[in-house]
Amino acid sequence: MTNTLLILPGDGIGPEVMAEVRRVIDWFGDKRSIAFDVSEDLVGGAAYDKHGTPLHDDTMAKAQEVDAVLLGAVGGPKYDVLDFSVKPERGLLRLRKEMDLFANLRPAQCFDALADFSSLKKDVVAGLDIMIVRELTSGVYFGEPRGIFEEGNERVGINTQRYTESEIERVARAAFELAMRRNKKLCSMEKANVMESGILWREVVTRVGKEYPEVETSHMYADNGAMQLVRAPKQFDVIVTDNLFGDILSDCAAMLTGSLGMLPSASLGAPMASGRPRAMYEPVHGSAPDIAGQGKANPIACILSFAMALRYSYDLGAEADRLEAAIEKVLADGVRTADLMGPEGGTPVSTSGMGDAILAALDASL
Ligand code: NAD
Repeated sequence: MTNTLLILPGDGIGPEVMAEVRRVIDWFGDKRSIAFDVSEDLVGGAAYDKHGTPLHDDTMAKAQEVDAVLLGAVGGPKYDVLDFSVKPERGLLRLRKEMDLFANLRPAQCFDALADFSSLKKDVVAGLDIMIVRELTSGVYFGEPRGIFEEGNERVGINTQRYTESEIERVARAAFELAMRRNKKLCSMEKANVMESGILWREVVTRVGKEYPEVETSHMYADNGAMQLVRAPKQFDVIVTDNLFGDILSDCAAMLTGSLGMLPSASLGAPMASGRPRAMYEPVHGSAPDIAGQGKANPIACILSFAMALRYSYDLGAEADRLEAAIEKVLADGVRTADLMGPEGGTPVSTSGMGDAILAALDASL
């Protein structure tokens, strides 16, 4: 099977970090004989500059055909004045919507060498490796009715939390499948104590869980989940939750691990004819206009996003392990981009310097 990949570097530091991913992709071709059929296109402000739209229809069509999309970042001050309908972020949202990417995977992994960067005590986070699965296409961000309405002599703002059984079922199944590949523990978070959508969520997750008897399933109210995430995060393996709680809990978990420059993500949809899921991978960070063009950006979040693609789109889990281990080694050796410099100081490496170190560690893994 060929491995097709559409790369959308985007704006700001997007192209800079993506250049390092391309070197990693080339390494897998040269040294591991794993070839990727890579195409590249524009998204966000870069697409707007050329086509007057943040995502051209041809790019959207290409995204629907490939095994995986890898996106850098979009946005920047230059585009802040644009109409909402053509803002760079609209390109990203269109990809997520039209590919129907309903499961957002946000790993929170704390590399031992960076444990001091967490705001929590080192022993609470060292070795942390959890995965938050957030439902991405439904819930209160999309439910109707919504709006600001006149009611009597004042206004009322309304949003609706709404989940169908099938929406809950498909994200629950994605989370259980992940748990099967990991430590076989899944915790579902909702507010079944005060929300009917939470009661249904718990019922459906429980039902789907019966298909996965090997997975130890638990349920937790999301507010307690937030407390537990900062009290003892290592108790979790996979967490599955809705769009709103997932938005908050995944950001909270992300900060357990230190820098924004380290955080990958994946958004998965239904399986395609090939059996592979529709998928888009992207770092959590934005286009970082404050450091764009200076060679300061940390490429690790984007490279780790590619590692997720190796694991979840191309079924190359052992190669994903190899890449993650190379990154771990580089960090353990003390190689740091500017965002990872601690109070003890030192000389940071550039974006491509970090790429060099990771390629050298990959070479050493052979
Ligand atoms: P940001 O993530 O771009 O930057 C926040 C801070 O983190 C900045 O100081 C930046 O220098 C630093 N940072 C981020 N990534 C880094 C990396 N890889 N290496 C080193 N430092 C890094 O968030 P922001 O400043 O709020 O937003 C900037 C632009 O990015 C805005 O236009 C925003 O709309 C857009 N944005 C896009 C995405 C996306 O494409 N998914 C996500 C968030 C923000």
